Amino acid sequence: MTELLYQTDSYLQTFKATVSALDEANHAVLLDRTAFYPGGGGQPYDLGVLRFGGVEAPLVRPRKGPEGVWHVLAVESALPAVWSEVEGQLDWERRYQLMRTHTALHVLCGVVFRDYGAQVTGGDMEPLKGRMDFEFETLTKELVGVIEAAVNAEVVKAHPVRVQILPRETAFQIPDLIRTKINLLPPGIPEVRTVELVGLDLQADGGTHVHNTSEVGQVRVVDYKSKGKINKRLYIEMV
Ligand SMILES: [Zn+2]
Repeated sequence: MTELLYQTDSYLQTFKATVSALDEANHAVLLDRTAFYPGGGGQPYDLGVLRFGGVEAPLVRPRKGPEGVWHVLAVESALPAVWSEVEGQLDWERRYQLMRTHTALHVLCGVVFRDYGAQVTGGDMEPLKGRMDFEFETLTKELVGVIEAAVNAEVVKAHPVRVQILPRETAFQIPDLIRTKINLLPPGIPEVRTVELVGLDLQADGGTHVHNTSEVGQVRVVDYKSKGKINKRLYIEMV
């Protein structure tokens, strides 16, 4: 399996790894460790390059498979040899924007639950833009501005963001996690990674976040959409 370096250090921009296997048909490289996020949980995959033997190969996309994380390289690039060492470098501007956006969505989620008791049902993001779906029957247009102000008030309170990897049994005893649908996690996984905006929000989450909400910057809640009587969607944008 590939060691997922981004799970314990989301600020890692370059890393060295060894090629574990090649998939020539898909022009893909399996690495023993990676800092590239392969996508999931609403967060898009990372981009960047792999360097080896004087070659700089653009990463088309990383992809999670049963063996670990495959790195699909640009078709015109050479492939490295199995067991050789490569260096990966992230497109850091994109990744850091995603970390800020992802953390902003946690602030939104924490505020909406604290102030209205509304639970999240889903979400999606791209750099500096995101949306979240809530079971939020009482959401009106007037509330959008109120929520935006409350989100920015929490951003500047500089909540630390704490990441932990907990044994499954421990995680399943945390009441706040149970409310965020931890039960949807695949059965059989031995550990649960949790992301906590201390004092505001706690989720089971595999994505990448900033260290402190003060890094998020200004958040605008730009729109909302009714997806039925109960289900409502909020859209954010960041500067
Ligand atoms: Zn998250």
